[in-house]
Amino acid sequence: MIQCVNPAQCYGCTACASVCPKGAITMKENEEGFKYPSVDGSACVSCGLCKKVCPVLNRQVSESGSIRTAYAMQHTDRDVLKNSTSGGMFTTLSDWIFAEGGVVYGAAFDEQMTVRHIRAATAEKRNDMRGSKYVQSELGNVFAEVKQDLSEGKKVLFTGTPCQVDGLRRFLGDHTEGLVCVDLICHGSPSPKILREQFRFIEKKTRRRLINYQFRPKRWSWHVHREIAYLEGGKEFHSNAYSDLWQQIYYMRLCHRPSCHSCQYSNIDRVGDLTIADCRGIDRVVPDFGSDAGVSLVLVNTRLGEEIMEKLLPTMKTQELAPESVMQPPLRQPSQPNGRREQFWTIYRKDGYEAAIKSYFGKHFALKYKVKKMLKKI
Ligand SMILES: Cc1cc2nc3c(=O)[nH]c(=O)nc-3n(C[C@H](O)[C@H](O)[C@H](O)COP(=O)(O)OP(=O)(O)OC[C@H]3O[C@@H](n4cnc5c(N)ncnc54)[C@H](O)[C@@H]3O)c2cc1C
Ligand code: SF4
Ligand code: SF4
Ligand code: SF4
Repeated sequence: MIQCVNPAQCYGCTACASVCPKGAITMKENEEGFKYPSVDGSACVSCGLCKKVCPVLNRQVSESGSIRTAYAMQHTDRDVLKNSTSGGMFTTLSDWIFAEGGVVYGAAFDEQMTVRHIRAATAEKRNDMRGSKYVQSELGNVFAEVKQDLSEGKKVLFTGTPCQVDGLRRFLGDHTEGLVCVDLICHGSPSPKILREQFRFIEKKTRRRLINYQFRPKRWSWHVHREIAYLEGGKEFHSNAYSDLWQQIYYMRLCHRPSCHSCQYSNIDRVGDLTIADCRGIDRVVPDFGSDAGVSLVLVNTRLGEEIMEKLLPTMKTQELAPESVMQPPLRQPSQPNGRREQFWTIYRKDGYEAAIKSYFGKHFALKYKVKKMLKKI
């Protein structure tokens, strides 16, 4: 049964739970807030399907493409660009699939502020997927929904982290007619439980309910990473030590899913027909591209990816790049675990979130942040 998979390696991709013909596998949250398969032995008929689709037990990447071409890309609509994390390539691709009569799958906040994969058949609903949410998204039952759409002859654009895309491909097997997969260059997915803690922390500090969150708004510039919490009553919370905590937790890799540190997708063999990301280093390669507004990196990995890109090129501002000029760390190797990850979790379990934060960033981190900001202004 699938429980032989080492939890340190399991991606939580849901392929095993989605494929089980007896519904014997449920995804259950562990104490770090990540979901893992749990098997009801009495329902299992030992058919072996779950093991057959698992990317950990079958190491070679399902349908790989090695990068064929790379582009810097920027959407020509200022409004789209403002609401996208990079250059808006996701919106260009999803508009194209809608024009083809298709549907889009991607990650959005639900009403409880949980990030989950949803299906969109309209641009309005798709807009909720815009913007990176730096946390592991809840996949729920979407693999089965994708299968249903494909079996009805619809085109489907699925976007997600490489492990989610690979999980979907393995679950679907040969039934991929009409499917377009887009993966992200991915540095890692942090714990949904710790994000919930950060949201509660903000609500406690502001004494207001959090109703939306932007992980990397472009209000200041694409190059400035700050976060904005949108609160009830039209209030906002940003530009202080408490509001910018999540990006620090993320970059410090304090609570990534353990599998991110041995990720088999951190290389140039891509599982998406196209890969989208931030075009880091664009100023070095094309200094006048206009990077303040955000730039996407688009990697074209398969023949299908090439066909789509050929159709879309006339509609976008682009610049072809040598793939070697835009290599990011996650295209070379998995992110390394933070040496103090265990200490963070131990303190969190014993004394809670605020104590864990203080133990890592120091008791006076808010004061230090203020002083640093003042010094920058001088
Ligand atoms: C967890 C994570 C790690 C990332 N790491 C890197 C990195 O190391 N380097 C890099 O260059 N880029 C990284 N990205 C990608 C980058 O932040 C942008 O999401 C990407 O360039 C798309 O930008 P856009 O302007 O085309 O689309 P946007 O309009 O901003 O759309 C965002 C896209 O990301 C998807 N998405 C958002 N949140 C999640 C999530 N939690 N899980 C799965 N899919 C999600 C949406 O479905 C949508 O397709 C990461 C994204 C995520 C979510
Ligand atoms: S072996 Fe078959 S029945 Fe048992 S859990 Fe796996 S998929 Fe389900
Ligand atoms: S990696 Fe995916 S298929 Fe394998 S055990 Fe984990 S959730 Fe199941
Ligand atoms: S780093 Fe790898 S394992 Fe972690 S979320 Fe990204 S693709 Fe999945």
